[in-house]
Amino acid sequence: MAYKISDDCIACGACAGACPVGAISEGDGKYVIDAETCIECGACADTCPVGAPSQE
Ligand code: SF4
Ligand code: SF4
Repeated sequence: MAYKISDDCIACGACAGACPVGAISEGDGKYVIDAETCIECGACADTCPVGAPSQE
């Protein structure tokens, strides 16, 4: 299951730089993960200051 970014996201952009496959992009007020590109490595969750990315 791909990771998803919750509404807790403060749009800092840190996760986008940490993602090894470029699955994260800036969306409308928060960042979003392309579920088809995500390889479920967890780097975004480890990088995020507010714990917004999680695996459902
Ligand atoms: Fe990118 Fe890994 Fe986060 Fe998926 S889990 S969005 S591959 S950093
Ligand atoms: Fe949002 Fe966390 Fe990514 Fe920053 S690191 S853009 S707060 S999900």
